[in-house]
Order: sequence, then structure tokens, then C-alpha cells
Amino acid sequence: MSIPNEPSFRESVELMFNRAVALMDLKPGLENKIRVCNATYTVRFGVRLRGHIHTFTGYRAVHSEHMEPVKGGIRFAPNVHQDEVEALAALMTFKCALVETPFGGSKGGLCIDPREWDEHELEQITRRFAYELAKRDLIHPSQNVPAPDMGTGEREMAWIADQYARMNTTDINARACVTGKPLNAGGIAGRVEATGRGVQYALQEFFRYPEDIAIAGLDGTLEGKKIIVQGLGNVGYHAAKFLSEEDGSLIVGIIERDGALTNEKGLNVEAVRAWIAEHGGVKGCPEGDFVEDGASILEAPCDIMIPAALEGVINLSNAERVQAPLIIEAANGPITAGADEVLRKKGCVIIPDLYANAGGVTVSYFEWVKNLSHIRFGRMGKRQEEAQHLLLINELERLSADKELGWELSPDFKARFLRGAGEIELVRSGLDDTMRTAYQAMRAVWHGRDDVEDLRIAAYLVAIDRIASSYRAKGL
Ligand code: NAD
Repeated sequence: MSIPNEPSFRESVELMFNRAVALMDLKPGLENKIRVCNATYTVRFGVRLRGHIHTFTGYRAVHSEHMEPVKGGIRFAPNVHQDEVEALAALMTFKCALVETPFGGSKGGLCIDPREWDEHELEQITRRFAYELAKRDLIHPSQNVPAPDMGTGEREMAWIADQYARMNTTDINARACVTGKPLNAGGIAGRVEATGRGVQYALQEFFRYPEDIAIAGLDGTLEGKKIIVQGLGNVGYHAAKFLSEEDGSLIVGIIERDGALTNEKGLNVEAVRAWIAEHGGVKGCPEGDFVEDGASILEAPCDIMIPAALEGVINLSNAERVQAPLIIEAANGPITAGADEVLRKKGCVIIPDLYANAGGVTVSYFEWVKNLSHIRFGRMGKRQEEAQHLLLINELERLSADKELGWELSPDFKARFLRGAGEIELVRSGLDDTMRTAYQAMRAVWHGRDDVEDLRIAAYLVAIDRIASSYRAKGL
């Protein structure tokens, strides 16, 4: 999406990068090396559909190969263009460094509106795109590993994995060529929910620091906080679901393509999602009041705003009127560089995209490791862990049978303690740890340096410093 009178998405990311490097002491050559996108491949291919040959345009940008493979989603949207995939690839580089996943940054896109094609047509198109990328090693377990993004999901990833396997019949690691696959095709438990889950963990970590909460002018916990979510797709739906069901937050607004729904008492996220699945939008949904001009709800009062749809939605045309004191960027680039400045001046705290939506790439990393190790997480240790716990339970039960001690185990303790960790528990634990550790690294810079005003610049500083170290280690 391009916004009149504002820098493009890629320029916006560069402006943020420039603000950060101005505070660093990098050699100018290295600074530029980290800034630029290494390469972008454009492909145009034809597919015979409905009796005609249709030409499609796709991209795969590789921003930085300081670590390989490079990693980043593939987006299916009608307005995908080179500038956008390069901006997204740069964000991937910084994101991977910030959450310590050992990848460089990449991103891909195909100019297509997936809703215009039937499933078997989409499969043909996706396979052909995958073929074009794989034959140039732009899909490869050790060089370039895509994942889902806007307009793509498990289904498309399964087609890509299968296409790669057909072209590389003896590659034992073929499944590691793409992440976000269905569980039965080499995927990992918890990948679908991962980005939204990461948004939840990021907010939980933020709310562990009263000092940070106070900077946003808020207090207390996530319970009862009023949240507005834009985009009830993969990321927005999971974030809204977990925050409302597990943390007691109220989803007071949901903004979708056709308008918004509001309800001060809190919307039922599952019911709204089901309505959208059936009717294609939020209009007419009885869960809340419908507002035709959906984007106006970005300006409505709330405690936390979660833009989880697309880039550039908070820009110079509306930033001044945005009231949320805390914004967590679940989407990539939802706030332009200009709007970022306006919001900062107003005292709004922004939890930046390169941190906030890193849950997806984190669990993709776990999936890639699982594919390379050819074994499900938890398979070796789960029962051993349970056996150890059983020993302890038996001993506790023996002691509590002693009436003189007067001990009693709480009713569900045994069942809960007895369960060893399976794949989903391990994935969530690894994701939670990653989100906590990365937040702590950012906030140490945010609070530790007088010249760092905001979390975004803190995140960039942590990430760029790590990337610079890898380049230096390579002799650059
Ligand atoms: P998705 O396609 O599943 O969902 C996008 C949602 O936004 C849809 O419900 C769509 O109807 C809605 N939407 C589109 N245009 C809108 C508009 N103008 N106003 C309001 N709603 C609108 O996509 P997703 O995977 O949830 O990705 C959303 C954002 O999160 C993107 O910026 C993406 O880059 C980012 N992201 C996704 C992942 C992931 O794992 N899927 C990981 C990191 C970042």
C-alpha cells in the first residue's frame, strides 16, 4: 500500500534503520552493507487456466546472507511489488537477529488475489511459482526457507514442500525447504497460532514491568484492558483469542476489510471469526455494532491497539487522532516512519513489529530444526519425565497418607504434574522464553541509554549490533 506524500514502505524501514545507526559507531561501509537488499529476483510465468494462458508476477528478495539459510514468508496479494518485499525482507533480517534465530532475511510475494481462484487452480499457480524459485535455489533447506504470510497458509506450504521434494528426490532434508507446513506433512505443533501467541507473550512480558506500563500511562495487568484489533486473519485472530480467553482482556473493536465491529463489553472472537468465515466480512454480525468506515476505529479510545492486517495503516493522515497509549505492531510496518514520530511525541508506546510478530519465525525455526533432526520434539523425553514425576507423586501420596503430618494434595495436582511435556508444550515454552529474552534485551537498551527514546530504536540497535558482529567475524 503506498501512501501519498509519505515515503514508501522500504524507505520507511530505511528511515527507522538510519535513526538507529546514527546512534552507533559502525564503519560507513558496513552500515551500508547491512542497509541494502542483496538481491531481488523477479519472475513472470504463465499458467494455462480456464482455457487461457495467465501470466503471474512473483518476487523473492534476499536482504542479508550474514547467516544462511535466509528466511521469510511468501505473501499472496494483488498489490505485491518489489519495494514491499524488499522492506519485508529487511525486517526479517533484523527480526531474526533480535530473537536469535540463525537466519538471514528474505521475503517473497506473488501478485494474485487468492479469492479469485479455485483451490486446484491456486495449487497449479503455487507449484509453478515454487518451481521457478526452487530451480534458482531460492527455495532450499540450507539456502532459502519460505513460510506463510498474508494470503498463504499451511495448504500453500504443503504444495511448496511437495514441489521441492519432486524436484529433489534424493534430498533427505527436503521437508526443511519450507516451514508452516501442516502437521501431517512435516509441520510442527503450534506453528499456525505462533505469531498471535507471540503477540500475547510479548504483551505479557511488557506487563511484567510496572515502569514500562507507566510510560504508556497504563497500570495493572492485561485483565480488563480494552483492545482493538485490525485484521482477524491468522495473526489477529490468535492474538485476540488468547488475550481474551486467557488474559481476561476485552476485545472492544475488530476492524476488517468491509468495516468494523465494536462492543464495549468485549466481542466474542470465536463468534466473529465464524461469522466472517460464513459471510466474508463483519457486516451484519450480531456480536457488536457495525461501523462502515472501519479505519475510523483505529482512532477510537482503547488501552491497546493491535494492527494485524497490513502496512501503512497508521500514517500521517490519521496518526494525530490515534488515541491508543500502547500499540503492538502485529503486522509488519503498520505505522509509517512519519506516523511513528507523531505518536512518539504524543507519548504513545509502540512495541515494534520486528519484535512483536517474531513468534512466527521463532516457531518456524523450531520446525526447521525438527525437519533436520527427523524427530518430533518430546518423543525421547516425555515418558521419562513422567516416570520421574510419578516417583515424586507416589512419595508425596505416601507422606500424605500419614494423618499426623496432615498433608493433602490439591485435587488436580497429580494430573497436572504427571503430564510430561509433548511437542506443543515445548514449542510454547521455547516461544515464551524467546519473547521474554528478546524483550529484556530491548528494554536494557531502552532504559540503559539516554539517547534511546523508544523500543523500536532499541530493537534495531540490538539487532544491528548482532548482524555487524557476524559480518565482522566473516572478515568484513
Ligand atoms: P491473513 O491473510 O491471515 O490475515 C489478514 C487479515 O487482514 C484478513 O482477515 C483480512 O481480511 C484483513 N484485512 C485485509 N485488508 C484489511 C484492511 N484494509 N482493513 C482491515 N482488515 C484487513 O494474514 P496474516 O498471516 O495474519 O498476516 C497479517 C500481518 O502479519 C501481515 O503484515 C504479515 O506480514 C504479518 N505477519 C504474519 C506472520 C504469519 O505467521 N502469518 C508472521 C509475521 C508477520
